[in-house]
Amino acid sequence: MALLDIHVLGSPVLREGTPPVEAVTGELRRLVDDMFETMHAAKGIGLAAPQVGRLERLFVAEVEDDKVALFNPEIVDVSGKPAKAEEGCLSIPEIYGDVERAPLVTVRGLDVDGNRVELEASGLLARCVLHEIDHLHGRLFVDYLSMLKKRSAIAAWEREKTKYPALRRTLIAAKDLAEQHNEEAL
Ligand SMILES: [Zn+2]
Repeated sequence: MALLDIHVLGSPVLREGTPPVEAVTGELRRLVDDMFETMHAAKGIGLAAPQVGRLERLFVAEVEDDKVALFNPEIVDVSGKPAKAEEGCLSIPEIYGDVERAPLVTVRGLDVDGNRVELEASGLLARCVLHEIDHLHGRLFVDYLSMLKKRSAIAAWEREKTKYPALRRTLIAAKDLAEQHNEEAL
């Protein structure tokens, strides 16, 4: 497994749509493993392929005991009273904003074995799934903010973005961080 760089806002790949995957190959299963590892290292709950510079229609998510990797996700149904809650994004670090989303969602897609599956999600997982599917169509949570809030979020991001001159976040695995600390201790 490998940690992948995460593209941040400004990288064009985040605004491209993704074509559906034709078949779930071994190479794509490895990508799923790498995306989970990257998401964990970044302490996120969801990650979509464009965020790691890939144009496969794929996302991974993990909320409590629910672990999901879905290719070609399609929203079948959204229901319940939409509610606002704060969202962030691994591609826009340190920026947060309230987004209104439905609390229940049903999605269909292919699992890592290429089988057609249907997933019903609620609460935080539903929010996460909708956020990740947006990524697969080039949409970001900041697009939902009111003009005023979007303007201030983008202004804050312009300052934050200077930390990422290559428009990539390079993560350090927890075990390597521990080794670094050991070296420092020596
Ligand atoms: Zn995101």
